[in-house]
Amino acid sequence: MRKPFIAGNWKMHMTTSEASRLASELVASCRDVDGVDIAVAPTFTALAAVGKVLAGSSIGLGAQNMHWEDKGAFTGEIAPAMLTDVGCRYVILGHSERRQLFEETDEGVNRKVLAAFKHNLVPIVCVGESAEERDRGVTFVVVDRQVTGALKDVAASQMAKVVVAYEPIWAIGTGRTATPAQAQEVHQTIRAKLAELFGNEAAAGVRILYGGSVKPDNVDSLMAEADIDGALIGGASLKAASYTRICRFERN
Ligand code: PEP
Repeated sequence: MRKPFIAGNWKMHMTTSEASRLASELVASCRDVDGVDIAVAPTFTALAAVGKVLAGSSIGLGAQNMHWEDKGAFTGEIAPAMLTDVGCRYVILGHSERRQLFEETDEGVNRKVLAAFKHNLVPIVCVGESAEERDRGVTFVVVDRQVTGALKDVAASQMAKVVVAYEPIWAIGTGRTATPAQAQEVHQTIRAKLAELFGNEAAAGVRILYGGSVKPDNVDSLMAEADIDGALIGGASLKAASYTRICRFERN
């Protein structure tokens, strides 16, 4: 009932021409991928060019961040309508790198989620604990706080459009993936929290992606878990061959 969703976060990599080249390789290599939503999130400067390459294909365009205000004196920021203007359908919000390196808070992520709805963008809301928090046994407390904070004032009727990405910080870019069972445990807890906040029906429709060192050789076992509805991919989304294999995951 939940369509799988694979999203690539290209982070601060690639010039416009490099990003356009990768996008055209993906348009060709993913052309016959069926039953999976696919998206890529290039850096801001490459969005317009990549959007043109993706136009007419089934690969959606996403941004890696945005501001919550419509416009104004916010030097260096990008407004939601600037993203829709270049063809974005998705926006990644609250990525742990933004939370850790740029001091984003649950409150700020919440403002951005509400702004995404206002501008008809699908928010991909990232949550996840640090290694230290996992060792202290507070993973569920942290994720509960992030989910509740990010989705404050969102209506149950809007939840079908929300995508949540569980990304344990200790697994991002480290080569250390959560085991399928570890990821499933947290995904199940997130869905239970969503049910508490928005009701069972709304929670059952939310896609929860796993992110953190997903690669061609571990995607199939992760996708076999009941509450893992897709993946947010960093490093392995930068090469057409590995990202295509991930998009062609086999669910067994
Ligand atoms: C990410 O940054 O969202 C991510 C999942 O990165 P990686 O796949 O490289 O761990």
